Amino acid sequence: MKLNKIKDNVFYIDGAVNMGLIAADDGSALLLDAGIDDSVSRKAKRVVEESGFELKGIIITHAHADHSGGAPYLVKATGAKVYSSAFEKTALEFPVWEPLYLFSGAYPPAPLRNKFLFAPQVKVDGVLEPGSHNIEGIEVEVVDLSGHTLGQIGIKVDGVLFCADAVIAPEYIEKHGVPLNAHIEKALATLELLEKTSASFFVPAHGAPVDDIKPVVEANRQRIKDTIEYITCLLKEPRTAEEVLKGVCDRFKIEMTTMTQYYLMNLTVMAYIGYLLDNGLITKFYENNRQYFCEKSK
Ligand SMILES: [Zn+2]
Repeated sequence: MKLNKIKDNVFYIDGAVNMGLIAADDGSALLLDAGIDDSVSRKAKRVVEESGFELKGIIITHAHADHSGGAPYLVKATGAKVYSSAFEKTALEFPVWEPLYLFSGAYPPAPLRNKFLFAPQVKVDGVLEPGSHNIEGIEVEVVDLSGHTLGQIGIKVDGVLFCADAVIAPEYIEKHGVPLNAHIEKALATLELLEKTSASFFVPAHGAPVDDIKPVVEANRQRIKDTIEYITCLLKEPRTAEEVLKGVCDRFKIEMTTMTQYYLMNLTVMAYIGYLLDNGLITKFYENNRQYFCEKSK
């Protein structure tokens, strides 16, 4: 884990989740995302301080535990203020939301109350709408990158866009099978926006920074399109949601072995089913107390 310079005052700290660092000339700095837990954020703090910067603010791009779990330690250790979008603030302040929505809104059992899904609570001091902001004396542009979650934001500064989980590196697509998205229509719109964004550098949270985002966007879009096509084809015959989930995992070589993995994939598959229903491509019916989805007869 080290501080990598992109522009004079713009850096990223590489890791399982890349963090951004935006500094002012006086040495005050904003951290973008906080890593999954104390041990990650403690290392990040050391890297920031050894480089002579003072942490004044933390922007959390979205309320997934691997991005926010390290925040409470940083707040306690540095007094930094926390910022997020209004929507993500709700889950950052009530972090049970993530395992709760994964488990259909029922209280999540112990195997889902882990550090990958259930982050420690962090209070959000400031809410960010898309547009220009001066945060702790540092100018940044907040960009709506919803789709992966409903309130995900990216941060653009000095021609560098920190794009959180709006895209994942092509090698991660192969590894994970289908990228996690909660809202397919918005995820596709965000990919289009990324393609049109003039920036000289893009930093995704998972994968190496790139100067050309187009091949990365194309790989993510292609996997979304392949998934839509596969599910549409599968639903020529009526299937339950669980059958669709199994089909998608088989098709994209995903092997589910944990409850965490099962419910994250389930969320992604439900996002596709919702997308197909809303676009009038499939319908639903009920038989023998089972819910089936199938192609809509034309
Ligand atoms: Zn995420």
